[in-house]
Amino acid sequence: MDSGLAELDARITGCRACPRLVAWREEVARTKRATFAEWTYWGRPVPGFGPADASLLIVGLAPAAHGGNRTGRMFTGDRSGDVLYAALHDVGLASRGTAVSADDGLELYGVRITSPVHCAPPANRPTPRERDACRPWMISELELLRPTLRAVVVLGAFGWQAVLLALAGAGWDVPRPRPAFKHGARIMLDGRPRPLDVFGCFHVSQRNTFTGRLTPAMVRDVLRTAADCAGLPTMPSKR
Ligand code: SF4
Repeated sequence: MDSGLAELDARITGCRACPRLVAWREEVARTKRATFAEWTYWGRPVPGFGPADASLLIVGLAPAAHGGNRTGRMFTGDRSGDVLYAALHDVGLASRGTAVSADDGLELYGVRITSPVHCAPPANRPTPRERDACRPWMISELELLRPTLRAVVVLGAFGWQAVLLALAGAGWDVPRPRPAFKHGARIMLDGRPRPLDVFGCFHVSQRNTFTGRLTPAMVRDVLRTAADCAGLPTMPSKR
């Protein structure tokens, strides 16, 4: 990995800027869920995952208490990740369709995954103040990815707002009023060294996937369109 991004990731994992989130992530790591009693939880901020020369960035909301906060890798070890990585694998952007631990060998091809809030929040709900506190990390990540970045997929309305603020902070030309989130939204932002395409997709949360609001086919469609736009080769769906 490029040293700039590796260094950023290392710095993120030491952040303690949000007292409520620091207390929560560490309490969850101490008390654990019975199913994971044998695990040593990560219990720290979860950095982005994927190559430093990614052309496609996927942005969620925040790590899950017993997912990323346990394993130390984005979307790893929870139901949301099961949906996301299965779709990434189906379209040819990941080496496998499951993500169980940070050392499971999973590789992403041209894709990086991050979130606007790097610590697990109670009830999966960061406050606006916590989102704002974490924004400098996302701005730095966007700046480091800028040379190769061509498209962003944002999962859910919270991420959408946070990403537009971070992109504006990193120098992309984000219109005002800010474009609204919807599944299937696509906007193109002017910026250097090239314009950036931003896609909206419902979050891969259980609430959306269990109810059928978001289906695997819908996730694959957004990923494939965004990957095409980012110049990444994809595979036709097997299902
Ligand atoms: S949410 Fe972000 S800013 Fe807040 S403690 Fe975690 S890494 Fe730091």
